[in-house]
Amino acid sequence: MDRKTIREKFVEMYGQEQYNRFVLTLYDSFPLRDKLFYWQEQMLNDFCEEINLEMIDYENTYSVFNQCPLHGDELNMEIVPIVDGNTYPDLGLYQTSSNLFPLSNVNAPRDLERFSYPEEVEVYYCEECRKVRLALLAELVLKNNYRH
Ligand SMILES: [Zn+2]
Repeated sequence: MDRKTIREKFVEMYGQEQYNRFVLTLYDSFPLRDKLFYWQEQMLNDFCEEINLEMIDYENTYSVFNQCPLHGDELNMEIVPIVDGNTYPDLGLYQTSSNLFPLSNVNAPRDLERFSYPEEVEVYYCEECRKVRLALLAELVLKNNYRH
């Protein structure tokens, strides 16, 4: 079964919302977690049993679900800087990010629970998410300029 078919069947079984949550959670840690959450493993288990597929392991999970669930673009890997807190606190952009461009990942948030942290980290991002983010940023900057 090819990766596209597996993704489609996954959406069929769980619905788009659960699918999005499953995929976005794979990529919301910087660096990536070294194992899946229990609930993700359960979803995969049930899914593979349902369609009679050999269990999808950690590596294969990332190779099957390497697509932005919003835009369908294959994800790319890049090294980005790690930053503190919210980069755009005044523009109100951050709140919209999870809905409109969840995989832009132009930088990565610092994990405050760690003692030492590198300056940069590998992330996976969606090209289309970055375009949406840039367009929104430009719009907001324009609005702000007119106001002052
Ligand atoms: Zn995207």
